Amino acid sequence: MSQPYTLKKSLGQHFLHDENMCRKIVSQLTHTEGTQLLEIGPGGGAITKYLIELPGVDYKAIEIDTEKVEYLKKTYPVLQDKIIEKDILKADVPFEGQFSIIGNFPYNISSPILFKVLDWEPQVDEVIGMFQKEVAQRVACKEGSKTYGILSVLMQAFFDVEYLFDVHENCFTPPPKVKSGVIRLKNTRNPHQIDNKRKFINLVKAAFNQRRKTLRNALKGTLPPQALTDKIFDKRAEQLSVADFVSLHKQFQP
Ligand code: SAH
Repeated sequence: MSQPYTLKKSLGQHFLHDENMCRKIVSQLTHTEGTQLLEIGPGGGAITKYLIELPGVDYKAIEIDTEKVEYLKKTYPVLQDKIIEKDILKADVPFEGQFSIIGNFPYNISSPILFKVLDWEPQVDEVIGMFQKEVAQRVACKEGSKTYGILSVLMQAFFDVEYLFDVHENCFTPPPKVKSGVIRLKNTRNPHQIDNKRKFINLVKAAFNQRRKTLRNALKGTLPPQALTDKIFDKRAEQLSVADFVSLHKQFQP
């Protein structure tokens, strides 16, 4: 199949060509009418063409690749003022008020994108995102498993996370070497009332950075020594639920 553009591996350009899969991903959005929607990495417009057809959606995209931005504007004239040509990691929040995010994300920057979502969280209603399958599983995973990690705790502290479905390699051009999965994140409006997100993130990162150690060892530099006598610190990070992390944060990082 010949394409009017090049495909850049360095930018994670694996474009969806399976139209049923494109429609399936788009149909996961809970709300469309009256919704502001950001697509991250529209690329060749695989899902974009369906998104801009949704009635009542105020659409914008952020795409880093000039060639794709020009292609999209030429192919879909309605996108003329709707594509921000920028690195998502350096972009300002694209809307005032609430918005949702959708995308087949560049896998090499999955974690930084999720941290960006966390940063924008007060304004983010819902995310429908495709990731490398292991990352998608990690975000959705509950405590007590090896897969459970920093991204599980942090995203689940602010969002309900649901693993939706796998996406087969053959749905893409070129097919990626890794498996893919789509997840939904729904904002739960900070149910744990975490006021100092920065400190909470530091705590969770420190706990998992030495995940084989007890929390007592892992958190030596993070929490005051007198705090570490509690028997919860005999456990390892992967044994603590989101609520457990929140309670440590509130108790010891006031
Ligand atoms: N949504 C399209 C393309 C997915 S590939 C599809 O499903 O077919 C990932 C896309 O993200 C590419 O278009 C790539 O150029 C873009 N991208 C990569 N790094 C980016 C970054 N830092 N900021 C914004 N877009 C980026």
